[in-house]
Amino acid sequence: MHVESQKVVILNYTLTDNDGNVIDQSTDSSFAYLHGANNIIPGLENALHGKKAGDEMNVSVSPQEGYGERDDTKTQRVPKEMFPEDAEIEPGMQFHAQGPNGETIVVNVTSVEDDVVTVDGNHPLAGVHLNFAVEVIEVRDAAQEEIEHGHVHGPGGHHHD
Ligand code: ZN
Repeated sequence: MHVESQKVVILNYTLTDNDGNVIDQSTDSSFAYLHGANNIIPGLENALHGKKAGDEMNVSVSPQEGYGERDDTKTQRVPKEMFPEDAEIEPGMQFHAQGPNGETIVVNVTSVEDDVVTVDGNHPLAGVHLNFAVEVIEVRDAAQEEIEHGHVHGPGGHHHD
């Protein structure tokens, strides 16, 4: 069975940047996603198309095919008083904020100086060239419910309450 739309793909991966630093990897359990449903970044999904269980490969993904280029206009300096009074604001914290079109975006606090908090709405991996070492473990048909939900259920996938 080959990887194509409406197949569940189970894989192991190691993700490194161009300096060889490990950014992420599947360790305790394999990762599962629904092919063709935008569950993963386009560069990796395209490279997996047509593969089968047992295939191993290295995939190099540019920011355009990954999490996008960094956009400096998404960095903002915000008065500290905009945050809840009892909140201890520290670099590395994440907040949900409203984007220009009303969508919910995640912003990361990158620095706190006196009364000014700098937040960054870029994805932490924006502008980063991604190198995946991937091993395809299994390819299976998606269940009807998985296709309707647009994601994988069960081990390595989505869990509903
Ligand atoms: Zn679901």
